[in-house]
Amino acid sequence: PYIKACYSILYVLTPEETRAELMILKTAQEMKRRIKLWSHTDGFKTPGTGKDAGKMVSIGDAKDVDPVIALLQLRDSPKTDKISDIIVMRDLHMFLGSPTQPNAKPVRLLRDISTLFKKSGDTLIIISPIKKIPAELERDITVIELELPNREEIQTIFASLYTPQAKKFIGEITPDEQERTIQAAMGLTFGEADNAFAKAFVEYGGFDKEKKALEPVSKLVLREKAIAVKKSGILEYFEPKQTSNDIGGLENLKSWLKIRSKAFTKKAREFGLPPIKGILLAGPPGTGKSLSAKVASHILGLPLLRFDIGKVFGGLVGQSEAGMRTAIQTAEMIGSCVLFMDEIDKAFAGMGSSHSTDGGTTQRVFGQFLTFMNDKTVPCFIIATVNQIAGLPPELLRKGRFDEIFFVGLPTAKEREQIFKVHLRLNKQIVDDSSALFQECIKLSKGFSGAEIEAVVISAMYQAFDQDRVVSVADLVDAVKITNPLSRSKAAELKGMIEWAKANAVNASKPDPEEETDSGTGFASAGRQLQF
Ligand code: ADP
Repeated sequence: PYIKACYSILYVLTPEETRAELMILKTAQEMKRRIKLWSHTDGFKTPGTGKDAGKMVSIGDAKDVDPVIALLQLRDSPKTDKISDIIVMRDLHMFLGSPTQPNAKPVRLLRDISTLFKKSGDTLIIISPIKKIPAELERDITVIELELPNREEIQTIFASLYTPQAKKFIGEITPDEQERTIQAAMGLTFGEADNAFAKAFVEYGGFDKEKKALEPVSKLVLREKAIAVKKSGILEYFEPKQTSNDIGGLENLKSWLKIRSKAFTKKAREFGLPPIKGILLAGPPGTGKSLSAKVASHILGLPLLRFDIGKVFGGLVGQSEAGMRTAIQTAEMIGSCVLFMDEIDKAFAGMGSSHSTDGGTTQRVFGQFLTFMNDKTVPCFIIATVNQIAGLPPELLRKGRFDEIFFVGLPTAKEREQIFKVHLRLNKQIVDDSSALFQECIKLSKGFSGAEIEAVVISAMYQAFDQDRVVSVADLVDAVKITNPLSRSKAAELKGMIEWAKANAVNASKPDPEEETDSGTGFASAGRQLQF
């Protein structure tokens, strides 16, 4: 539509160069317009005719590979007929300089061309995976983003591969399984979806011949997606194995999630339940926030998509926003998932101060994130975690942003007992957990986080292994005694967080009245209690 609307310079933002070119080629044919393709290695090319039909043939000469010469040609060669041209340029973004330091000659030439093409009806299309437009050009260029393929397009790719021959090789795939397979490829680019299907078909066929248990095609496609998504560096897709039994305590959080586990069904939508946004888990490190996200994925029956927001800021200025955009787009296409954003305080805390040094990039990325949270139409459930509250932008914590903010504090006595038992079981250790010494151990470990309790269990195992015997409760007690928990070394920080939580968050744990009377630390009582 943009070509038809006679925009003179378009900037197509996409990692899928070939797909964009094919789309443009098709449009050009439909509109009976001449098309030229330029790249920094081959200069100008055009689709061949006659015996060269179906191929691209070179036009112009070797000097055209120089972007300035190429642009000069576009500007200065006189037209001999009335057919308007579409010129597609790859690689050009690399010669424009940066938004703040433009490259004078190409920028000047593009501005001239913009004016000229407006009159002639020609169109110049720049294809680039990253957005890098000098401020001088912003008014002359229209940016469009090539979206990831939608369900229909993915279905077409699937159909084009699931041919009668393929059917013969891999056998019938039931309509239900076809649906799941197509859903599994959502969020992939055209090329990736094509590859994922092809590879899944080959593996599926192979399994069949060896008469091994068949894995559903959709599972194989999901595995391919996991690999493809990971390549982006920002998202990671997996199906965690942890269940409710692997987490000690945090009963309030677990009940909250269980009640919402049906919220993602069609029935819930028909009932009129509002879409779920997500939750924020705040608390000191090692208290099981990440673990909760994995367990949530299990409780809600949704796969986990880990969104590494720290990596968004790895690259150059400008690329952060592009990275964020791609990641959000992919998450939206994947749809049903738990979107797990760990330690977002690392990215967004102290935004005020970094503002001056990064040209507002953090601020803009944060804006993108908030917009996504507000506007997302897909059932993807955000679980964000923070280790500290100080310095977080208030917009993030505002009422209504998240469905709930949970404070995940240090475990109560009951919870510590459960966490000890979880890690003893996971590590296949049996100790006398009905002994008085075990109770003593739980008391002594007051102020320990779940991660610290796990470390105690491991350290007791080393001790016992070294002395060639089984682990005893005494080993656990020894390990507890020599540990200096974070709550002791960072007491002041913790206290601040607890104060904040009392006013602003819901406690992820059920309170433990015994614990509250035996000391005044207030860990157990922080946070409002949950009301269902
Ligand atoms: P956080 O994200 O809060 O920093 P993690 O979830 O990464 O903490 O915790 C690290 C590890 O500590 C977990 O993988 C788990 O083995 C252990 N752990 C922490 N809290 C709990 C808990 N409540 N129950 C069982 N294990 C826990």
